[in-house]
Amino acid sequence: MKTIGLLGGMSWESTALYYRLINEGIRQQLGGLHSAKIAMVSVDFHVIEQIQARADWQQVGENLAMNAGRVEAAGADFLLICTNTMHKVITQIENALTIPVLHLADATAKAIKADEIHTVGLLGTRFTMQEDFYRGRLIEKHDLDVLIPSEKDMDIVHNVIFQELCKGTIREESRREYLRIIDNLYSRGAEGVILGCTEICLLIQQENTPVPLYDTTKIHAAAAVIYALS
Ligand code: GLU
Repeated sequence: MKTIGLLGGMSWESTALYYRLINEGIRQQLGGLHSAKIAMVSVDFHVIEQIQARADWQQVGENLAMNAGRVEAAGADFLLICTNTMHKVITQIENALTIPVLHLADATAKAIKADEIHTVGLLGTRFTMQEDFYRGRLIEKHDLDVLIPSEKDMDIVHNVIFQELCKGTIREESRREYLRIIDNLYSRGAEGVILGCTEICLLIQQENTPVPLYDTTKIHAAAAVIYALS
């Protein structure tokens, strides 16, 4: 079994889910007392978010590349960046490593295509919903049609992530807003919706809506289990 590297803490609310999902996946595959071999570095998200908010991506990249190096030094055979947004600096991270990085958008696109879905809605931080490193990659590399919410709704989705979900706060009112936005994407033609932020699954689960959901935390963790056992 390969050792799975986790670059976590962004936020720890979702990294805790990764840890559980990966261990459950390994137990399911191997049975008995088997558990995942994991090397993890978990950062202080306050520091990262402050640099992110002033859009100093160079510095975010340097910080995360340094921490990813620590994950490799701890024995990881490959790395997961446990956040969609920070894939914005994946090139800097990859350049600091000799081990491969499992890209979250690629794993998600694979799951979507396996369901023969072509048009998807995308929820996540503003960076993820709007920029080329994620939305663009789904369109260019994976040939998907990607719908995003209106400007006003993108604000709601983004703010709920940073002001509530990353702090472990779950509000019924925010759940209703997210479900309204998901319905809206569906009525505009989305055949499914990507929960493209690793904390959204804390608020919205498949049982809340008939619209097919692609939970990136679950997808990434499952891809790690398969790769670790390959
Ligand atoms: N965990 C989030 C994501 O998947 C957002 C936090 C961050 O900015 O990294 O995008």
